[in-house]
Amino acid sequence: MKLSEEKIREMEKIYSRYWWSEEEEEEYREISSDPFKLLIFTILSQNTSSVNTRRAYKSLNERFNINALSLSKADEHDIAEAIRHGGLYRVKARKVKEVSKYLLENYEGRLDKILKMDMEKARKELLKLPGIGNKTAGVILASIYGQRKAIVIDTHMRRIAIRLGLVNEKASYDEIEKKLKEIFPWEKLKGKEDRVASLFWLLAKHTCRAINPKCEECILKEDCRFYLTQK
Ligand code: SF4
Repeated sequence: MKLSEEKIREMEKIYSRYWWSEEEEEEYREISSDPFKLLIFTILSQNTSSVNTRRAYKSLNERFNINALSLSKADEHDIAEAIRHGGLYRVKARKVKEVSKYLLENYEGRLDKILKMDMEKARKELLKLPGIGNKTAGVILASIYGQRKAIVIDTHMRRIAIRLGLVNEKASYDEIEKKLKEIFPWEKLKGKEDRVASLFWLLAKHTCRAINPKCEECILKEDCRFYLTQK
């Protein structure tokens, strides 16, 4: 399966209404300009709505001015208090503190030192950070290399890849990433790679929902194993 130009136009028409507001985009741009801040934001976003992630992030930033030095010295309980809006805040507070300490001890608190390595070496180093898994590493790499090279696989992308029949239930992160990358006509997207990957993610989230997927209105149904086997 390959996304045709027509399908991409349809995705643009249907899913641009779910696109992030200018304010959210501006905030995200500011956060992504500092890989350490993006790392903390991504930890805070785990199993949390975007509204609550942003609230938790702002509160943490106001209290500690997010950087590896201040967070590694902060009391874990105080971090937890600052990110209460986000859910799972005790677990996340531990992760925030541990990853900050690790970066301070091993990289002088500078995540950009890892990101100067070539992409696959950087991925390996990111995965050594305490509490950091494939998805978080993917978000950081995508912010540097773009989704053409590092498409981010989260629960929505995993689900849609399985339903489309690109991978099986047991597929690893790497396999899903590889198979999903193959459906995009990257060479034709010219500067719109990240937008199209994000539109596809919006389709996965809003149409290929975990419960009651809206298959009848899905633009991918004729290529979808799940849909075709349910008919
Ligand atoms: S047809 Fe249904 S299962 Fe297949 S991608 Fe679309 S929403 Fe998901």
